[in-house]
Amino acid sequence: MVKTKTKIFTSEDIDRIESEYRLLRDNLYRCDKAGEKELIDKAFRFANEAHRDMYRNSGEPYIIHPINVARIANQEIGLGARSVSAALLHDVVEDTGIPLEEIAKQFGPKIASLIDGLTKISGTYNKETNSLQAENFRKMLMTLSDDIRVILIKIADRLHNMRTLDSMPEHKRMKVAGETIYLYAPLAHRLGLFAIKTELEDLSFKFRHPRIYEEIARKVKMDEKKNLALINRFSLPIIEELNENNIIFDISGRFKSIYSIWKKMQSKNIPFEEVYDLLAVRIVFEPGPDMSERAQCWQIYSLITDIYTPKPDRLRDWVSRPKSNGYEALHLTVMGPEGRWVEVQIRSQRMDDIAERGFAAHWKYKGDMSQTESELDKWLKHIREMLANPMSDPLTFLDEFKMSLFSSEIMVFTPKGLLVNLPKGASAIDFAYEIHTDIGNKAIGAKVNYKLSPLSVTLQSGDQVEIITSNIARPEKDWLQYAHTAKAKNAIKDALRDESTDRIQKGRDLLEKKLTELGIVPNSDIIKKLLDNYELLNKDELYSHIGLGLINLDELRKVLKRAPEGSLRKYWQLAVGGAGRKSPEEKENSPAPGTIDKSHPYLLRENVANTGNSYVIADCCKPIPGDEVMGYLDHSNSIIVHKPKCPVAIKLMSSEGNRIIPVRWTIHKLASFLARISIDGIDRIGLINEVTNIISTELNVNIRNMNVSVYDGIFEGTIDLYVHHTRDLNNLILQMSNVKGIASVKRIEEFIE
Ligand code: MN
Repeated sequence: MVKTKTKIFTSEDIDRIESEYRLLRDNLYRCDKAGEKELIDKAFRFANEAHRDMYRNSGEPYIIHPINVARIANQEIGLGARSVSAALLHDVVEDTGIPLEEIAKQFGPKIASLIDGLTKISGTYNKETNSLQAENFRKMLMTLSDDIRVILIKIADRLHNMRTLDSMPEHKRMKVAGETIYLYAPLAHRLGLFAIKTELEDLSFKFRHPRIYEEIARKVKMDEKKNLALINRFSLPIIEELNENNIIFDISGRFKSIYSIWKKMQSKNIPFEEVYDLLAVRIVFEPGPDMSERAQCWQIYSLITDIYTPKPDRLRDWVSRPKSNGYEALHLTVMGPEGRWVEVQIRSQRMDDIAERGFAAHWKYKGDMSQTESELDKWLKHIREMLANPMSDPLTFLDEFKMSLFSSEIMVFTPKGLLVNLPKGASAIDFAYEIHTDIGNKAIGAKVNYKLSPLSVTLQSGDQVEIITSNIARPEKDWLQYAHTAKAKNAIKDALRDESTDRIQKGRDLLEKKLTELGIVPNSDIIKKLLDNYELLNKDELYSHIGLGLINLDELRKVLKRAPEGSLRKYWQLAVGGAGRKSPEEKENSPAPGTIDKSHPYLLRENVANTGNSYVIADCCKPIPGDEVMGYLDHSNSIIVHKPKCPVAIKLMSSEGNRIIPVRWTIHKLASFLARISIDGIDRIGLINEVTNIISTELNVNIRNMNVSVYDGIFEGTIDLYVHHTRDLNNLILQMSNVKGIASVKRIEEFIE
């Protein structure tokens, strides 16, 4: 957090600090041993002195932040006195110039090493990787090898920063929110901190997609009353039944988080109403004296299913086999009032404690947790191995670490019976690259349990896999769609890049040669003219087309002589900076492109006054005007425009967040952007014709490519289109979905040509 030291604390400031500290001090959880409260008081006094007269962006005294981090660490994560002290001191070394040695002298080596892990690297870093963020993350994890509390305090720090993100400048918000969804939320989940994970996801989502967030929140609120009444009606008979059986318990209604609603809407392509159909209640019981917790879970299960009919395929038993992050509970779904499905979660108090407080609670119950402890230990061991590998650069490390957060693994075997661990969902191509890059690059198919299968086949635990290779085989773009491991993805991209760089280089050379022949000096206007003429999106595409021989350079002179096609032709432009939320109409009436918001230092530094030529539409997510967008300033100072939800963009926010700049669409134009839609439905005579008719009569849409296959009367296809705006695309989708026989039409957000 940026802080300023501009004025001297007022007496209100001092009162505020005092009362915030009281809130922590008077509600300390498990800090009752001799000397613990004194230690915390000492840490507070030290930090308070060090941060004296410092303010946060929000205008509050800076020390309010460490106090709240300490409160989260203690009350929401359950950490003890030393961690609370470390949390109070966590920004002292980084921000006040007090050396670590001083902390060690005052508070001992343990607290000093916690603070060290929480202090960012300053000064120089490996220029090659260019990611101070990744370096810092790795440094923090290094400390994890001896003490996981560093991570837990870091998560508390991040949670408080997210809760107060409003007061940060916008370009920082994106970076922090992106990093949160990419790393910290999965990390919190991996460590079993469910409540914190959910809050981090919701907060990150709120800042990345404010409009969608507000809309879902509003709808949730609208339904809340009705759903609460339903839950009450549903719970009554259960409460009676459990009371009759002398079970001591708490029952409460649960609602889905806003982020998880949105994620379901996206992944299943369904409206809010369908997602929000699921109601849930949670029962937390106090274990009786003469029954195991597990038996008691099943007793409650049977009492509930005496009242309501269970949905057979929706029983989740994490009591017999806890999740790898330690989660234990019994989940069932039953038919409730008014034909609504209700999920019931059954947990003992101990299980609930673990679910809410995660890792710290594991320590408390250590002993009867042998199985889950070992799962977490395994993960920690894996992280330590990764850290010990001197070969991995910080960015690769970040990738690998991210993968490791998704705990589920499958075990598959080579033909010789060697065990290979892969993440759940991995395909044969992942297996191939896991064995060796050369095997991956030459793969053409696989035998899974002796059966011939495509490389895209999803592997299951226990499969025996053999990769079939051919010397003339080459990696294909398609593979990226079913490669899951970072290793496979990177190898495929490397191989593809080599090939396409060759082509781009060749195209560039050919063009330059031709221009020199014609006595023309290449400049951006010439390139722009060519892009317009051939309706291409960027320079690389132009070179690549030339390299492939798709553009005949003999007509170059003619093309360049031609006057720009009508003075009416305008283009979509991106404005950099000042991406305040505006309605689409307002956006289109904004003044000139390239409006620079002086509050963004990067823009001034990079001097992008002529943004006209310097932006590139990201290849991965292909945003079009009307989409929410953000910019990434690449190393050659072009602005790459992504959708904020694009995974590539989220990764960039996390690894190179200081290169993220806000951008937005401005003036209304007539340039085309490539988009892809997929359609499916039941085939009938004339259907394809009807579809093409709609597209061709839709004035603002041009078809580029259509790919349809029919089997057993079902047709499926994708259509690539040039459109000007999301409005045109949505319009088209709407019209097409009205065609008889079409079951679904949707935009594909990420595709590779
Ligand atoms: Mn902090």
